[in-house]
Amino acid sequence: MKKRISIFGSTGSIGQNTLDLVRCDKNSFEIVALTGGKNIEQLVKDAIEFCPEIVVTAYPELLHELRAGLEGLNIPAAAGDAAVLEAAERPADWIMSAIVGVAGLAPSLRAVAQGTVLALANKESLVTAGPLLLQMAAESEAKVVPVDSEHSAIFQALLGEDISTVERIIITASGGAFRDLSKSELEFVTPAQAQTHPNWSMGQRITIDSASMFNKAMELIETKEFFRISEKKIEAIIHPESLMHAIVGFNDGGMMAHLGPPDMRHSIGFALNYPKRKNINVARLDFKTIKKFTFLEADEVRYPALRLAREVMRRGGLWGSGFNAAKEVALDRFLTQEIGFLDMAKVVELTLDKLDNLGILNNQPKQLGDILNADDEARQISRAINV
Ligand code: NAD
Ligand code: MG
Repeated sequence: MKKRISIFGSTGSIGQNTLDLVRCDKNSFEIVALTGGKNIEQLVKDAIEFCPEIVVTAYPELLHELRAGLEGLNIPAAAGDAAVLEAAERPADWIMSAIVGVAGLAPSLRAVAQGTVLALANKESLVTAGPLLLQMAAESEAKVVPVDSEHSAIFQALLGEDISTVERIIITASGGAFRDLSKSELEFVTPAQAQTHPNWSMGQRITIDSASMFNKAMELIETKEFFRISEKKIEAIIHPESLMHAIVGFNDGGMMAHLGPPDMRHSIGFALNYPKRKNINVARLDFKTIKKFTFLEADEVRYPALRLAREVMRRGGLWGSGFNAAKEVALDRFLTQEIGFLDMAKVVELTLDKLDNLGILNNQPKQLGDILNADDEARQISRAINV
């Protein structure tokens, strides 16, 4: 029987890699929903190729363009946030959550509520709502499988293991576009320079977050939330080759490291076929040509995002929502060159200070609305911060 799957954020980097894997194994899958944003051309192209039950753009003003592209074909189209949520309620065996930003949270929660397998690429879901999402998953008996490469690596290293025997979890960071620049050189880098990545091909926002280490900061928080492990046991280390994605250390001194080429199709494919493994056409590592693995300290002074992530992990509650929203606003302000590269961390830190003084972040979110309210407050404050 074919696996019925939906892809949220199908036109993005993760979405396209997912479709690429489906394309190679077409007889195994049936597409329920494809959802995208503004890239209607890609959405139409994929809808024609994969014939989903429904295709959705999050932008109502683009519905006529989507419908025009699908004219004469029997593929229903819809638009708007409510239509995205309705698509997440359509029965599916497997749902990929790969919308970028906090916009991906509501579809993740809806998907989990139907008790399916949720392949979770959208890191904001765990950072802002980890306990809520996992509690809902436990209630609906949904299975959440992480897609972020580091978390997929940890998940795989922990298969068959008892989490209480884990002493430490180390996630690796490439160091991003500016790994070798001095702090004074970092002050003047431009958005265009930040949009290149030495090893991974990803969406624009996560690529810049990699250069600022906000991506690794998000991943530290994701690790704490997903594996429910103390922040004291979680570390980040710079590994420029991006071949080792995570290392789990156990209480008998043994360590399990997960290795693979820097290609998201591995962790997407692992989630797509979970609990089985299937042949995936990604490069295989050749240790005769690799020769060395390099590791460098991820310095929390050079990378204030990592220091802020520690505070977020310690404080819990709505700190992840405040952190993520401020980070998204700071990135927008950097992209329009209103603030500099190093100012992004300052905006986030000052926003968190202000939210803390207002007592906004300490409650444990009980529902989506609690998170969206904190998100909104954080956005307003971070837009107004002068640096
Ligand atoms: P991307 O920018 O390439 O794609 C984002 C997708 O979300 C697109 O389909 C876009 O149309 C859609 N979208 C954007 N705004 C939307 C909105 N408001 N409502 C509905 N849809 C909207 O991003 P990406 O690199 O594919 O990343 C997707 C998510 O996966 C992010 O949370 C990212 O952090 C995470 N992630 C990505 C990678 C990677 O290799 N790209 C790795 C790990 C985790
Ligand atoms: Mg990652």
